[in-house]
Amino acid sequence: MRRLPSFYWLLLVVLLASFVPVVVLLAVSYYQAIQSSQEQLAAEIDQSVRRTNDLLTTADTLLTRIAADTGGQSSPEAFNLIRRYAYNDPRFREVGIIDERGFLVLSSLGVVNPPILVPAALRANPSRRVTQVLGPVKTVLMKENSLILSLPTHGEGEVNLLVDPAVLTHFLDDSELGPNGFIAFVGQDSHLMGGVGLLPDERLDITSAQTSIDRSKIQVVRSTRKHDITIVGQIPLRWVLRYWWHDLTIGILFSLLCSGFLMALLIRSARRTYGIGHDIRIGLTHHEFVVYYQPIIDLKTQRCVGAEALVRWQHPNLGLIAPDAFIPITEQTGLIQELSEWVIQQVIQDQAELQEDAVRYISINLSPTLLGSEDLLDYVTQTLAIHSLPAQRILFEVTETRLVEPVYANRLSSFRQLGIRLALDDFGTGYSSLRYLDKFEFDYLKIDRCFIQRIQTAEGSPIMDTLIELGHTLGLEVIAEGVETVEQCDYLQQAGVRYVQGWLFAKAMPLADFSQFLQQQQSLPL
Ligand code: C2E
Ligand code: CA
Ligand code: CA
Repeated sequence: MRRLPSFYWLLLVVLLASFVPVVVLLAVSYYQAIQSSQEQLAAEIDQSVRRTNDLLTTADTLLTRIAADTGGQSSPEAFNLIRRYAYNDPRFREVGIIDERGFLVLSSLGVVNPPILVPAALRANPSRRVTQVLGPVKTVLMKENSLILSLPTHGEGEVNLLVDPAVLTHFLDDSELGPNGFIAFVGQDSHLMGGVGLLPDERLDITSAQTSIDRSKIQVVRSTRKHDITIVGQIPLRWVLRYWWHDLTIGILFSLLCSGFLMALLIRSARRTYGIGHDIRIGLTHHEFVVYYQPIIDLKTQRCVGAEALVRWQHPNLGLIAPDAFIPITEQTGLIQELSEWVIQQVIQDQAELQEDAVRYISINLSPTLLGSEDLLDYVTQTLAIHSLPAQRILFEVTETRLVEPVYANRLSSFRQLGIRLALDDFGTGYSSLRYLDKFEFDYLKIDRCFIQRIQTAEGSPIMDTLIELGHTLGLEVIAEGVETVEQCDYLQQAGVRYVQGWLFAKAMPLADFSQFLQQQQSLPL
């Protein structure tokens, strides 16, 4: 049985629900902060790759041309040529030609006389006939460290270009890398060629060429086209988090506002439910509920054959309250069971008090939520026994809402076995009615008021005609509810409806009035 959840549970739900926006905001913005730092780093590295590729391609073209034009030999023409090449591109410091013995014989600075032997460490690998990058190192002619871009020639010598290492990195000087972050240019044998930021002291072993994020850093790795140079960028996660936190201030304020709004909404709705729920509970203990009876008339005899029990709340301050205002709340809060048991008990007691056989039956509305309860059958059986009332004098009205659930079906057939008759209420307003009509053994079909209201003229309503016909085909008695006018009544009578209920005959009334109504009926001539 559903009971009113405790206030502390509710508080917990409210607190959890109101923290959800904050948690979601934190998670989303954390993800975004990492994502955008990674994108920023990747963009800088991509730009580095583009510039380095451009340098390597230009150097490659130039060195190939120098090797072809000079034949790798020193001459006045060769000197003019390489000097022009060297000064044409500001990225190149110097151009040199090394002969097959390994001597630097010509430089764009002048003829090297006597030639200088170039140490093996400053020479390219002759077996690879592509431009290779060495350094940065001090070369034989220059004091500053240079990168050597060198191409072995067919005559076994080599032609090379010297480049300031800053050429690779100077455009990165404004990079917003966090403390301890860096962008490093790594040569073929893992040696560091240059970079910006807090560069590591040792060789950088790049195991994965992928972008990765781990507990301490974001890392982006890219290679140049010929894989001579790998460019590695790292940002410490600590730095990203600090900025994320800093940027969150506005976000947190916003999400706190959302949380506050959500909390206010939840508290308001909880107060409404709990407030009225509390009043209903008090109403039940203070006997503020009353059952009214609305007669059901047999058009054949013009006599009252039964009545529908309709509950009302006699509120001490608000007066008589209609069930539509409180039944849904009793269903939400679990109070419906208590209220329904009270109604059942009251109807059985009233029925037993009425003059014997004054009415054949009284119908009771059963909320679908109640059909889950196992206690109901026992309760009804016991109450009938206490008041010695035959089960046939009770009729349960159910709607189509939850007929599909098997537990519902079992419960209904138990009531039938007890002798209680069943009516399908509000027929035509639900869906898949036919299936249920076939499956459950109903005795009555109550055609909803909305169909009766449509009978304005003698032509009536085709849907309603179909519903009536359907009821009769299945051997059910049809009760039309909400009959307000003589025209409606005449129409229904012609359509073969035998039982009617509505304000044309009587409104729902307290037991005393109903009893009087029955007596007046009995005094009418047959
Ligand atoms: P319902 O089962 O459709 O009950 C018929 C409603 O139509 C009643 O409203 C009745 O007063 C009203 N009515 C009858 N004849 C006429 C008429 O000629 N014209 C108009 N305009 N209305 C008419 P009421 O008493 O306000 O009940 C509203 C609903 O509350 C009921 O609809 C039923 O679903 C529910 N209800 C009432 N008592 C109980 C109860 O004890 N238990 C449960 N679970 N539900 C109940
Ligand atoms: Ca009803
Ligand atoms: Ca109804």
